Amino acid sequence: MLVQAGERLGIACVTLDPAADSSAAQVGPAIVGAYDDPKAIALLVADADVVTYEFENVPVDAMRAVHGPAVLPPPSALEAAQDRIAEKTLFTEVGLPAPTFAAVDDLGSLATAVEAVGLPAVLKTRRLGYDGRGQAVLRSSELLEDAWRAVGEVPSILEAFVPFERELSIVAARAADGELRCYPLVENHHREGILRVSYAPAPELTDELQTQAEGHARAIGERLEYVGVFAIELFHANGGLLGNEMAPRVHNSGHWTIEGAETSQFENHLRAICGLPLGGVGVRDHVAMVNVIGREPDASAILTIPGAHLHSYGKQPRPGRKLGHVTLLAEDPDTLRERVLQVSGHLTDS
Ligand code: AMP
Repeated sequence: MLVQAGERLGIACVTLDPAADSSAAQVGPAIVGAYDDPKAIALLVADADVVTYEFENVPVDAMRAVHGPAVLPPPSALEAAQDRIAEKTLFTEVGLPAPTFAAVDDLGSLATAVEAVGLPAVLKTRRLGYDGRGQAVLRSSELLEDAWRAVGEVPSILEAFVPFERELSIVAARAADGELRCYPLVENHHREGILRVSYAPAPELTDELQTQAEGHARAIGERLEYVGVFAIELFHANGGLLGNEMAPRVHNSGHWTIEGAETSQFENHLRAICGLPLGGVGVRDHVAMVNVIGREPDASAILTIPGAHLHSYGKQPRPGRKLGHVTLLAEDPDTLRERVLQVSGHLTDS
């Protein structure tokens, strides 16, 4: 989707991905190789003006080793987002409250962490977790060993379980001169740790909540000297916001912006990293995004729904894999919800 946005702006993209059949390889020139393969990276950067990433587990050292073109967002932002302890420490340092947390390095420190954090709690691997993988909810101190085994006995973080009202996220674009443009807060619905549906703007969004979230995005952007698009995933609890995690990249909860906003998150990311003016972040209508997971849907059935736009990433189907998404536009929230139900009825995820 970044490559497609680049095409319109006359920005030629070359991608690097370990998979030969990556989505990006289907829409532009692609190098197949590991993210830290020096030869592949040398090829990638040879004619580049700027290097970026849209996957947060790209090795930081490989990005630091790039010489010549600018690497944006800065690798230090990638580093902060790769470690859940660094991430939550950053949140609290810039004034974004986070669930109470403690580091866990072994079974002994898990017991100590439970005393500090309380129960119920969520044990998550510090690194490489995504879509709910590498996580275990801990409800009883008799089940410490099970939880420790469930996360693979690797360095982890124990977080207080937040009985949130809903999950929100804010997607922000930050330019090199510090200008920040934020899309409206989005309400996200997960199942089995995987994002299923996003509503934009979040229902009953108040100016006050949006201003709060933008303030947090501004503080994080400034601290990281960020350039590009990033997302902060938030819990809305007790009327306030708690930081869950940040993504140093374009984000799934911002995919609706392709049809639903004045400028897509993909275009704004490219504008930011290429030193072009940022585009407007206004929303058209009421918008939702429904992820296509596990199995391809019947395109005709989806496309007969008014206001529906189907995006298929050309990936091999696999249980739990995000294969595409559907953007839905509607004139009012009730119609939007009806259309989301219609789309969901055509998705048989596995
Ligand atoms: P994460 O990979 O950290 O985004 O977690 C995946 C999902 O698990 C989140 O979107 C929440 O639905 C849930 N979750 C994560 N952390 C917590 C928490 N501390 N309290 C309650 N639910 C959580």
